[in-house]
Amino acid sequence: MTKTSLTPDQRAASVEAMQSQTFDVLVIGGGVTGAGIALDAASRGLSTAVVDYQDWAAGTSSRSSRLVHGGLRYLYNLDFKLVAEALKERGRLLTTIAPHLVEAQPFLWPLKTPVVERAYSAVGVGMYDALAVIGAGGRKTVPTQKHLSKKAAIRHFPEVKADALCGAIEFYDARVDDARLVITLVRTAVANGALAASRVSVVRLTKDASGRVTGAVVRDNESGAESTIRARHVIGATGVWTEETQNLAEASGGLKVLASKGIHVLVPRERIRSATGMFLRTEKSVLFIIPWQHYWVIGTTDTAWHAQREHPDPTSADIDYVLAHANEVLDKPLTRDDIIGTYAGLRPLLQPKVLDESKSTKVSREHTVSEVIPGMVAIAGGKLTTYRVMAEDAVDFALGKEAAEATPSPTAGLPLLGADGYDAVVNQSARLGKQYGFDADRMKHLLSRYGSEIGDLLASIDEDPTLAQSLQHAPQFIRAEVSRACTVEGALHLEDIFVSRVRLNSESRDRGGACVDEVAEIAAKALGWEEARTEAEKTNYRARIAAELAAEEQATDAAASAEREKAVDVVGAGMTA
Ligand SMILES: Cc1cc2nc3c(=O)[nH]c(=O)nc-3n(C[C@H](O)[C@H](O)[C@H](O)COP(=O)(O)OP(=O)(O)OC[C@H]3O[C@@H](n4cnc5c(N)ncnc54)[C@H](O)[C@@H]3O)c2cc1C
Repeated sequence: MTKTSLTPDQRAASVEAMQSQTFDVLVIGGGVTGAGIALDAASRGLSTAVVDYQDWAAGTSSRSSRLVHGGLRYLYNLDFKLVAEALKERGRLLTTIAPHLVEAQPFLWPLKTPVVERAYSAVGVGMYDALAVIGAGGRKTVPTQKHLSKKAAIRHFPEVKADALCGAIEFYDARVDDARLVITLVRTAVANGALAASRVSVVRLTKDASGRVTGAVVRDNESGAESTIRARHVIGATGVWTEETQNLAEASGGLKVLASKGIHVLVPRERIRSATGMFLRTEKSVLFIIPWQHYWVIGTTDTAWHAQREHPDPTSADIDYVLAHANEVLDKPLTRDDIIGTYAGLRPLLQPKVLDESKSTKVSREHTVSEVIPGMVAIAGGKLTTYRVMAEDAVDFALGKEAAEATPSPTAGLPLLGADGYDAVVNQSARLGKQYGFDADRMKHLLSRYGSEIGDLLASIDEDPTLAQSLQHAPQFIRAEVSRACTVEGALHLEDIFVSRVRLNSESRDRGGACVDEVAEIAAKALGWEEARTEAEKTNYRARIAAELAAEEQATDAAASAEREKAVDVVGAGMTA
């Protein structure tokens, strides 16, 4: 186990060590915001602990559109500051923080009317490009917009309906595997000294005689054991669970957050011929058609959500909505049969008013950080793209002005694991591919997931050459990736591998069902599972698949939720790590 690995042993040791000191910062929530805060705090030299009651990224942060973007549509609300901030972060992620995980992506914006719309859109996209260049200190981190005639647009995106556009603008944003970003953030935080444990719930907050929060009582959901973590500052980064977390403080302060559901469908890459994505404005928001190496991600929707928050699922009505909007521009309409995967996420919609306006609060347009009670702050809102700014704001706010100025955040220039030396391994790609028998497609896949850590993955193959083999029913992945999910990336259960690491849960038609035996066999070897445990993990994940497939056939959220809840949660299934 290296200092950057998340494993069951590292987790157990962290849970134990969390009881034996007083931390500067305890972070509740291991989505992108909490993981970012843990890295921010640890890299300032603060003693830091982070826990999540589910797997890392299991909330909204593994269920997004997977874009790192400025948010072109916000320009239409004249939100220049907000867009500029997100574009600055996009530039940092592309160049310094995570160039291996974040990749520039061109999009076509189809124009329906010739002159006025083109002029109007060109100003918007031109401003977008200009803000990005300013944010990067005059450097161009992605190519700037191109105006395309109808003929040129069809050449770029050959399967667009001829009557869906009279021309287009090509502009750039970027894409990222959201869950991988979060897991890499947690690992980088650990490399900077943080203690991290998934499947640990904060169940109560502790206070001193003055009423100041002094830490939290946590429950290890794998063992059921409770313990206390002492901390000078507690930061809640719990997305759509924000109000529940605040309620643990039994105080009047904090943020008000509602949940809104957005869904995506995935179709095979070969189903739509184009290297360019598509950006469409819809009556409610926007629809992205986004190419990845092996599939397209298409979404999203925006509907109020009132059911349980652990397992939002798309309904058949949501899926029909997305298909209908995509088909407005696609020459060969997509059907249900084209879909290989679906997923849904809940946006933490920050409400404009804090619960107690007498408490100190820092409001930015997209995210807000507020004192819940002395010793505890909550942060919510924002987006994946701006996680770093949110994290910096949250830690600054928790520490207070003087302490924050004495220990400023270094994260703007801090590469995540796998980023340092990325260009060099890209240059070595052909040689390494030849050495291990991997073609250019495979090397691209591995480099975009592991960056300069690819050497560690290849070393595991040197030790066990069978790990170089493709998964029998999902040849886009090799066995080493499953093993690494367990020995480095913190998977504790079979579903952790399928949902957030080797993401067959959303990227294959049977949600990875055909791979269950093989993946379980690799995981059992990596994690030392006995046969009974391995069988229980398989049964549990298969029940999840059945429940998810049944849920997406339902017409309403309530019916889909009822189907999904028929599968027992893995930590409730009596399996210990
Ligand atoms: C459909 C959709 C598309 C999106 N697309 C994009 C996009 O393309 N680009 C972009 O930049 N943003 C996008 N976003 C926004 C972005 O995904 C979210 O803003 C972000 O993921 C929120 O992260 P978070 O860490 O605040 O919340 P979460 O990821 O939900 O994390 C909160 C965590 O807190 C944990 N938790 C809760 N209570 C407790 C407790 N008591 N103890 C321990 N842990 C607890 C939960 O388990 C959870 O993991 C999208 C959102 C949606 C819904």
